[in-house]
Amino acid sequence: MSIKKWIVQEKFASADIYKVKARSLLNKATGFISAYDFTLNPYRGCQYGCSYCYAAAFSPDPKLRQAWGDWVVVKENAVEILEKELARWHKKRPHHTPSIYLSSVTDPYQPLEAKQQLTRELLKVMLPYQPTLVIQTRSPMITRDIDLLGQFERLRINMSIPTGSEPVRQDFEPRSPSIKARLQAIGKLRHSISCDTNHDLRFSITITPLLPTFPEHEREFIIN
Ligand code: SF4
Repeated sequence: MSIKKWIVQEKFASADIYKVKARSLLNKATGFISAYDFTLNPYRGCQYGCSYCYAAAFSPDPKLRQAWGDWVVVKENAVEILEKELARWHKKRPHHTPSIYLSSVTDPYQPLEAKQQLTRELLKVMLPYQPTLVIQTRSPMITRDIDLLGQFERLRINMSIPTGSEPVRQDFEPRSPSIKARLQAIGKLRHSISCDTNHDLRFSITITPLLPTFPEHEREFIIN
């Protein structure tokens, strides 16, 4: 995707929204997530704009790198591409379901998803193929999709909470949801999605990067 072809389509909150046609959606997973077959990023860019985000370095342009958090690219043909890619995989390997990491360089439940519902549509495409799915997010919006998530047979949901102290969160990721909202969301997911012998479901809190937690907040963070 070349930035020269991008045109701002709309504003969502303070973010410039671009829409592009992606050539592929499932990308071979590499590096620290190479244990998975693919990464899947419905969007480029991320409205949370965390100050430590390594994904900012993959911005296609220095100006966009500087403006990390203020732009999002929607892969508007993502549903159609994923349908084709999964069908192709299934034809070649009917007895081997792929493992998919959603997402490695964006948050699939960033604020725009409330309007766009692209992640939700992609979950619907994935369901018949029953991939091993890992969802990495810091957004309570994921609870919107409990009806779909409960139908996956192999699912891990990682909720990112890098600190137990709100002032630290506000310093490093001021646009992201509160720690309390994230803890409540993971609690809701655990209680709403039933685990039985046919379902391998895991829920985790990922503390990366490991930001400081003030001593007075440690106990509450650990208990929760
Ligand atoms: S939520 Fe994740 S992808 Fe988005 S800015 Fe923060 S670290 Fe980066």
